Amino acid sequence: MNTIDTSPWGSLTGIRPVRRVVQMKERGLSDEEICRTLTKEFGISEEKIRLTLTIAEREMKCFPKPPENHASLYLDIPFCPSKCIYCSFASMGVDQMKHFVEPYLTALFTEIDATAKIVRNLDFTIDSVYIGGGTPTTLSAEDLDRLLYHIGNRFDLSSICEFTVEAGRPDTITASKLAAMRRAGVDRISVNPQSMNQKTLDIIGRRHSPEQITKAMELVSGYDFRAVNMDVIAGLPEETPEEFANSLEKVVAFCPENITVHTMCIKRAARLSTEENDIALSEAEKVQEMVRFAHKLLDANDYHPYYLYRQKKTLGNQENTGFCKDGFEGAYNVYMMEELETVISMGVGGVTKLLRGDRIERIFNIKDVREYIRRLDELIERKQYLYEYFK
Ligand code: SF4
Repeated sequence: MNTIDTSPWGSLTGIRPVRRVVQMKERGLSDEEICRTLTKEFGISEEKIRLTLTIAEREMKCFPKPPENHASLYLDIPFCPSKCIYCSFASMGVDQMKHFVEPYLTALFTEIDATAKIVRNLDFTIDSVYIGGGTPTTLSAEDLDRLLYHIGNRFDLSSICEFTVEAGRPDTITASKLAAMRRAGVDRISVNPQSMNQKTLDIIGRRHSPEQITKAMELVSGYDFRAVNMDVIAGLPEETPEEFANSLEKVVAFCPENITVHTMCIKRAARLSTEENDIALSEAEKVQEMVRFAHKLLDANDYHPYYLYRQKKTLGNQENTGFCKDGFEGAYNVYMMEELETVISMGVGGVTKLLRGDRIERIFNIKDVREYIRRLDELIERKQYLYEYFK
């Protein structure tokens, strides 16, 4: 199919199209029936229906729904070396916010202590841990070591199948941080080039070079992580399909176990202006070409799509897709995105998602670092709701 489709998801709203397909499969609908429904009711393109069916099948095979007393943990470190122009997370450039690191960690350790007590009392089994942000490796080796030790000391991690740390920026990756992670049982890290083109990296404010990605990957390869993820973004400002192809080909050449292909998303909180957004939206065709190229290249290199989510305001109304080599599906991504189990979050901006039967409730942490530190007692109090929810 080579047509331009500016609305490949038709009228379907919501960020989890795969969830809908899994539910249809669980109700006993055949692939043909699902296909008919998605085409007729929502006008979803054949390409996207095939994609969701493939992912749903893989998810059902690899991730049977865990028991209700199983949970994953998420911890947020909201600091980055610099702010990317498209960023809408609660992250802060660490140079300006250095003086917040220590008070933030102190507050986070207190929240970890309180949360671990609840998790113990409710007899939860922890399946996976994910430290994201922000860029957690912005912390010094000592602070990262302290944090990892504290988590391992407070929670029973003996049953986890995956422990991920986002090491997104290559300029934050050092031998001592990698060693601290491996000591603590971290077995999956994310090294995110987003682009392998210097011009683009400069435009988006990443403040690192493609060569630093190569060096970081060389360093990482000496630490025997079970899986490495690399993120790229389709539709970055001023990037052509050829430049995107160049990035992805270089990423594939590193042979990471996971590659995540995001589509550029322009949110209100980012520094990009509405005018730029309008211009960018007219580039749907280019982004579609990039996404199609990604699927083709990754398929040819034995990467399979295993999770997918949509965001509002993505260029060309495309999606974000995680690809993996066989057997390397990122568990946390699936548990969290497909709402297969409870996710207990700690730190700024964290969203705790409680799952029981068909019921889902959320507890939101504050998005601002100063407010998080100031109102920590209130946030810890909110978590006491877990006792009520799971009683
Ligand atoms: S690395 Fe991620 S969290 Fe940090 S500024 Fe860039 S987009 Fe935001």
